[in-house]
Amino acid sequence: MKGYKHILLAVDFFEQALTVSSKAKSLADIYGAKLSLIHVVDSMPIPDIGYGWDSSFDVDLTGEMIASAKKRLNDFASSLGVEAGRVWVEMGSPKTEITRVAEENQVDLIVVGSHGRHGWALLLGSTATGVLHHAKCDVLAVRLKDN
Ligand code: AMP
Repeated sequence: MKGYKHILLAVDFFEQALTVSSKAKSLADIYGAKLSLIHVVDSMPIPDIGYGWDSSFDVDLTGEMIASAKKRLNDFASSLGVEAGRVWVEMGSPKTEITRVAEENQVDLIVVGSHGRHGWALLLGSTATGVLHHAKCDVLAVRLKDN
């Protein structure tokens, strides 16, 4: 069997991210593959419903969310021995951004956790399912225990 050359680990920073990352790291070691990380800052459109919000407030908030996500992801990457150049923080829909970055960087395996029982996933369907449907490469869904 042909081995994997570039593995992309999708990190959501929830408690069980460590379970998913240890699987991705082991596979990268076994195959001698590059390991990259991605976190997507979920964008939720805020409708203009006349509360008189100052638009600069939203811009600053977004900038802060991205900066904080970058710091967390860089710390996570160094704990896994992943170099800074292989870390992506994107903004948008997780499934769309994860599969886009995978395609643009010749990723041949995406690793995600699978439970779909928190937050917006309850309403919109799980990220793992979305990635499975959109990805053009293999996807490993690491089964997580539901709390
Ligand atoms: P979910 O189905 O949304 O509970 O998430 C399942 C898996 O998708 C997580 O274990 C992560 O691997 C990945 N994931 C979810 N949200 C994000 C995100 N915002 N950025 C990167 N990966 C994510």
